[in-house]
Amino acid sequence: MKQTGLLFSILLVLIVTTAKAQLGAKKETFTRADTLRGSITSPLRTCYDINYYHLDVKFDIDNKFISGNVLFKFTAETDFTKLQFDLFSNLKLEKVVYKGKELPYTREFNAVFVTFPQTISKGSKDQFTVYYSGNPVVAKRAPWDGGIEYNVDSLGHKWVSTACQGMGASVWWPTKDQQADEADSALISISVPKGLKDVSNGRLRKVTQLKDGYTRFDWFVSQPINNYNIEANIGDYAHITDTYMGEKGKLTLDYWPLSYNVAKAKKQFGANVKPMLKAFEHWFGPYPFYEDGYKLIETHHLGMEHQSGVAYGNHYGNGYLARDLSGTGHGLKWDFIVVHESGHEWFGNNITSKDLADMWIHESFTNYSESLFIESIWGKQAGQEYVHGTRLGIQNDEPIVGTYGVNKEGSGDMYPKGGNLLNMIRTIINDDEKWREILRGLNKTFYHQTVTYEQIVNYINQQSGKNLTPVFDQYLKCKNIPTLEFMTLGGKFMCRWIADVQGFNMPVKVKIKGGEYKYLTPKTRFAPVNIEGATKDNIEVDTFNYYIGVLID
Ligand SMILES: [Zn+2]
Repeated sequence: MKQTGLLFSILLVLIVTTAKAQLGAKKETFTRADTLRGSITSPLRTCYDINYYHLDVKFDIDNKFISGNVLFKFTAETDFTKLQFDLFSNLKLEKVVYKGKELPYTREFNAVFVTFPQTISKGSKDQFTVYYSGNPVVAKRAPWDGGIEYNVDSLGHKWVSTACQGMGASVWWPTKDQQADEADSALISISVPKGLKDVSNGRLRKVTQLKDGYTRFDWFVSQPINNYNIEANIGDYAHITDTYMGEKGKLTLDYWPLSYNVAKAKKQFGANVKPMLKAFEHWFGPYPFYEDGYKLIETHHLGMEHQSGVAYGNHYGNGYLARDLSGTGHGLKWDFIVVHESGHEWFGNNITSKDLADMWIHESFTNYSESLFIESIWGKQAGQEYVHGTRLGIQNDEPIVGTYGVNKEGSGDMYPKGGNLLNMIRTIINDDEKWREILRGLNKTFYHQTVTYEQIVNYINQQSGKNLTPVFDQYLKCKNIPTLEFMTLGGKFMCRWIADVQGFNMPVKVKIKGGEYKYLTPKTRFAPVNIEGATKDNIEVDTFNYYIGVLID
């Protein structure tokens, strides 16, 4: 999921479309604040590699106030005396402590620049602690418009969750706020008013009753994690445990519903989780976080792919809030949030895009994972119908790839159009076992890594033996889809691609009525259609699997 329009609902698509139409004429401009936030190449950020965070944060829920500190452990990548971390400017920065002494710092927008008393030498491991407090942004409509969400459950218990993808984790804790550098592990200590529980990522290490009437929950994540995935969920939670025997052995399953939803959770998670794990391990390889377990945590908001602690708010029902985003009926047979958000454990959490502009690596693959889940239970045709059906949600309003270096994601088309693109790639590769090897290979090759656009596309090119770069570029970097044009010229039946990308040459399945499909590889200049007897009256293009325009002159 992401900040705007990620998990598009029909309603949301309408809202987003209207908003974008209004903005349509204006060219987007970026500010110094956007660069400070979005740059992944700034020396003040690349000079240090985050190894570990320890968040120790107290939630005073009545006052919507938090306070605490975060320990940064890092390895110096270069010699440096100054670095940048990030903390929303509305939060008070109390002090930065290094070896028992306070460090001088300056703040600019949501960035903080700290100067050390001496050069930190390349290769050295070091640490500092940031003390802070304040009233973080209250989420207006989590998870899209995020921050901290304050609610009460039906019994009147306080119910609080964090959701900050896109917006950034620095909305509630000091951190190096970009996706390229993940902490290798993290300890998350959340103190909550007595009687409530906190459920965060990873495994619960310890619960401590504090003298001030608060209870501290220490959760440890032993595997690399994106900072936006780090979560606090505070409420009157119950706990259900189960296990799954998967590709890497025994995987612990822990469900944290509100106390009065235990029976519903047992039924809904019982019906969805193991079939989902079976499907995704088959297609993508082992669940990427056996060490930290698999968890679902009930939230007021719809859902979020928090690593080893997926936020769940789909009301224990099937579909996307009981709706089918594909219009085919296939989307009503399973719990969209369990399947989609868990799909992100492979694409998003295991493999993370370095720059937010490449959110398609998270969302296109995860959208596509929904059809593979369907295929694993109801067969390939059902999965293909689902992909085709999701075209309902495509806008072709702007490119799927956003703007690099300024924390700007692209079009919400990264969901359905991205899913359709990946299904076309499968159709072009025309070898389902090879395709499965590629999907598993991506998760193995880039295991627990952050990646670029080129790394993903090049890997698929190498493994498939096909140059699919023009296809990816057309669908991800341009807003228009390509059109296959047919024309009779000088007595010859010809075709070509009309596309934005130079050298666009996507292989496409074409047949004459009643015949068998053949792969043509048209180029952007007219060339004869090499199918015996093909004319403008009998030509048929596979527009079920190919999301393209067709023009027959
Ligand atoms: Zn998603």
